[in-house]
Amino acid sequence: MKTTNPSRVSEQLARLISTVKEDRNGAPSEYLEDVEDRPVDGFAVAVCTTDGVAVSEGETQQAFALQSVSKALTYAVALQERGMDAVLERVGVEPSGMAFNELSLHSDGRPYNPLINVGAIMTHGLIPGNDEDARLELLLDRYSQLAGTDLTISEDVWDAETARAHQNLGLAHMLAASQMLPDEAHEVVRGYLGQCSVEVTVEQLATMGATLASGGVNPVTGRRVLAEWVCQQVMSVMLSCGMYNASGQWMAEVGIPAKSGVSGALLGAVPGALGIASWSPRLDEQGTSVRGIGVFEALSADWDLHVLRHR
Ligand code: GLN
Repeated sequence: MKTTNPSRVSEQLARLISTVKEDRNGAPSEYLEDVEDRPVDGFAVAVCTTDGVAVSEGETQQAFALQSVSKALTYAVALQERGMDAVLERVGVEPSGMAFNELSLHSDGRPYNPLINVGAIMTHGLIPGNDEDARLELLLDRYSQLAGTDLTISEDVWDAETARAHQNLGLAHMLAASQMLPDEAHEVVRGYLGQCSVEVTVEQLATMGATLASGGVNPVTGRRVLAEWVCQQVMSVMLSCGMYNASGQWMAEVGIPAKSGVSGALLGAVPGALGIASWSPRLDEQGTSVRGIGVFEALSADWDLHVLRHR
């Protein structure tokens, strides 16, 4: 960052929001139709440095579901709890080039990566715990440590997702058919949709990004949550696979390890520097927040954040 002066950063974010807010392209995800109080044109942005300085602008008090952003966090927890080899045995690290909910498996039956639905369902199944409740409890605890605040699940979102789970159940049954899933397909999907329904504010999400960016120590609480190698692995996969079938373009144009969710959430982590989070529900064809892309493109350019930039 060119400046660590919080009031200057605040002004920059407010200016950015007022420019990007003009963009009314895209439409919110269908699941929101069942969720009360859906602010389709809400917009908020936050950054949190690896020194623990957080700045946010816009509708910063609005809570929203993590949705697919949770896939990166659960991947981190699975690596931390099970180790690299055990996780790689079940899920790969190759971009699939396909939409988030497609079935794309290696010839040995492993999902291509943990950030598409089939890989995320597999990864959820790797979380230690004998049942849905135990796995979710562990995930909520780790997500809360990453954010530095106690987080909860939105029952409304969870119900809305469960009512439309056919595709995810189909993916889980394919995994179960090849003995890849350690548990009953319905339970794993229900748990996976529970992790998608955990709610955060932009500042909590940016703190999660800052924890990844600082090698696993939450810079606000000072508590170690993840090992450094876990953060490196998670950010690598976020950079190569975080935007589904737009990941190559994202890597070239924005160059920040990131993960999107259909709630309009977008999480980024710039190693050694900061976490970035945005929320705005209008989505493009890949299911990524249109204004979120605008925010990340602008910050990457203005603050020279592309991780492969010549320095
Ligand atoms: N809960 C959604 C699903 O699995 C998450 C999708 C997403 O955010 N892209 O269908």
